[in-house]
Amino acid sequence: MLIEELDTRSFEDFADHDKVVRCEDKQSGLLAIIAIHNRNLGPALGGCRMRPYENEQDAITDALRLSRGMTYKSALASLPLGGGKSVIIGNPKDTKSDALMRSMGKFIDSLNGAYIGAEDSGTSVADLRTMHEETAFVAGIHERQLSDGTTANGDPSPSTAYGVFKGIQASLQHRFNSGSVDGVKIAVKGVGNVGRSLVDLLVQGGAEVFISDAYKPALDRVLEQHQVHVVDNEVIHRQKVEVYAPCALGGELNTTTLVELQAPIVAGAANNQLANDSAGQYLFHKGILYAPDFVINAGGIIDIYYERHGYDHGEVTRHINKLQDTLSEIFSYSEEHQIPSHVTAERLAEARFLGIDISNVA
Ligand code: NAD
Repeated sequence: MLIEELDTRSFEDFADHDKVVRCEDKQSGLLAIIAIHNRNLGPALGGCRMRPYENEQDAITDALRLSRGMTYKSALASLPLGGGKSVIIGNPKDTKSDALMRSMGKFIDSLNGAYIGAEDSGTSVADLRTMHEETAFVAGIHERQLSDGTTANGDPSPSTAYGVFKGIQASLQHRFNSGSVDGVKIAVKGVGNVGRSLVDLLVQGGAEVFISDAYKPALDRVLEQHQVHVVDNEVIHRQKVEVYAPCALGGELNTTTLVELQAPIVAGAANNQLANDSAGQYLFHKGILYAPDFVINAGGIIDIYYERHGYDHGEVTRHINKLQDTLSEIFSYSEEHQIPSHVTAERLAEARFLGIDISNVA
């Protein structure tokens, strides 16, 4: 197994990374990168993604981008964690093996806890458990005892959904002076693991819910439990609703969808909702309140953090509730200083992990 540290100064735009390490193991076929962006607040926790990247450079760029995002997410979630991410180059459908995951476990272990891996696209809780046979530095693998006495596996999606629900309430409070979802019209695009749990909470709270999904069985699963409106996937963003909640893929807020949005609030779980910076600027100048994705969808990482520090569901819930205060702070600062919410959130995160006053962050 060949493990080598890459020179971070050579990565244009990403020179502020703490450490980037590459591992090649001919025996198991592992070719992987671990990128650690920043550890000022604690060890770098982040998912381990497996994808058939076209080339190694694409994999490195993805790891650099995603690890930086994790620093911001954890800082805004008030967690003593830094930002990291790992990527395995390979097709999860046909190149996965126990030997490969064990090898990844050894690679993670070689960093002595500087990086803690978790599930991500292309890897499963079972894969993380295999890695765990070689390292203590993986998270999201144990069953959790919930407050109602039931147990959940390591999947953090219900906690992510709960955080998004609280974030929707904080957004409604800011915009309409009432945080209740009762009678409020809310459109959810994508009813997978997070979207489905979010719909449960919204319906319980009395909201009138509109859903769409590219996969019919996902819609059917919701319809078996709730009376909601099913809308065509191409028009869900144009619904006349109070809140639009993207919970499918990234890039949802782009030049096509932005001009058609009817909702005064966008607050959903999907990562990287803004196609680019201009999309965030557009929302701000149109007066649409945008709950930055990396703030509102942090319930999952909060949940995973507690797994390693004595899981108490009540404590996890109280911690996730604090996302409301963070969002309110971001919305108020954004309005007062006329800075879009996504930029405000980045500045607040930088202030936290660099330990300086927000007004001193450029
Ligand atoms: P998932 O794969 O379980 O669900 C995604 C759903 O979106 C699926 O039902 C899928 O059919 C649907 N979908 C995919 N493409 C679509 C399209 N073009 N139009 C409409 N529907 C489409 O994923 P998830 O775990 O529910 O995550 C949803 C989003 O939230 C992702 O962007 C993910 O990165 C983000 N997120 C998830 C978590 C978590 O804890 N799972 C945490 C933070 C962020």
